[in-house]
Amino acid sequence: MRCPYCSGENTQVKDSRPTEENAAIRRRRICPDCGGRFTTFERVQLRELTIIKRSGRRVPFDRDKLARSIEVALRKRPVDPDRVERMISGIARQLESMGESELPSSVIGGFVMEALRGLDAVAYVRFASVYRDFREAADFQEVLGEIAAATPVDAVAGGEPGAGRPLDRKH
Ligand SMILES: [Zn+2]
Repeated sequence: MRCPYCSGENTQVKDSRPTEENAAIRRRRICPDCGGRFTTFERVQLRELTIIKRSGRRVPFDRDKLARSIEVALRKRPVDPDRVERMISGIARQLESMGESELPSSVIGGFVMEALRGLDAVAYVRFASVYRDFREAADFQEVLGEIAAATPVDAVAGGEPGAGRPLDRKH
């Protein structure tokens, strides 16, 4: 593994331990050339998975990209990073275990929506608004309705720019 700081080729593994409930190996590495320390993860990849985007373009499944889109939805939300990491791993495992070598991006979107719904209502609405590409207010109302049963309404309306009106402050 090349050193990310000095590009030296002689980095050494100082420590290896299982993580993410034994789904990954975390390795601490050190570069003898510059003293740089960094961490790498080893994960199972059951097969190469290709994602078919809405445009029809095919791209390799990218776990990091999935993680980034979820992190954007969860920005500044009080959610434990370990839970987020487990959620991402869970989605990746579900995708890999579907037995398809190609999947439409809508399948990933569906898994993310499902996972976020149970994790954080605000993140769910944020992701849904991008993923579903809300064209009408009715679409937004529909998503709010889907989570209203399980979530206090204040948690949904609070701080969400798309909600349409500012919070009433009567204190
Ligand atoms: Zn180095």
